[in-house]
Amino acid sequence: MKTSLYKIFRLECAHYLPAVPEGHPCARMHGHSFSVTLHLRGEVDPQTGWILDFGRVREHFEPLRILLDHHTLNEIRGLENPTSEHLARFVYLRLKPDLPELYRVDVGETCTAGARVEDD
Ligand SMILES: [Zn+2]
Repeated sequence: MKTSLYKIFRLECAHYLPAVPEGHPCARMHGHSFSVTLHLRGEVDPQTGWILDFGRVREHFEPLRILLDHHTLNEIRGLENPTSEHLARFVYLRLKPDLPELYRVDVGETCTAGARVEDD
C-alpha cells in the first residue's frame, strides 16, 4: 500500500505571458492567487505515524514563498515566461534536491485551471 501526503500553499503573484499571440489577454500584466500543492510520498514512520512533519514541508517551501509571493514572476530568473507549467517545474526543481519525497507539484492559477509536473 502506498501512502502520500500533500500540503497546499497560496501565492499572490503578478505576471504576464510574453509568448502569447498579440492581443491575447494574458499578454497584459495581471495577477493570480496561485495554489501550489506539494505531493510527497514515502514510508510512514511507525513511531510518528507520518511520512514527514507538515512543519518541515513548510520550512522547505518558505524560501520559495519569500521569493515568489507578492512579486512579479517575470522578474525572477527562470520564470521569464511564467506559465503555470513553468512555475510548477520551477518549484519542483528547486525543492526536489533537498526534499526527495516530493514527486508531484500542482499549480492552480484559477479555481478550474492549472498545471502539474511529476516524477517520470
Ligand atoms: Zn495569468
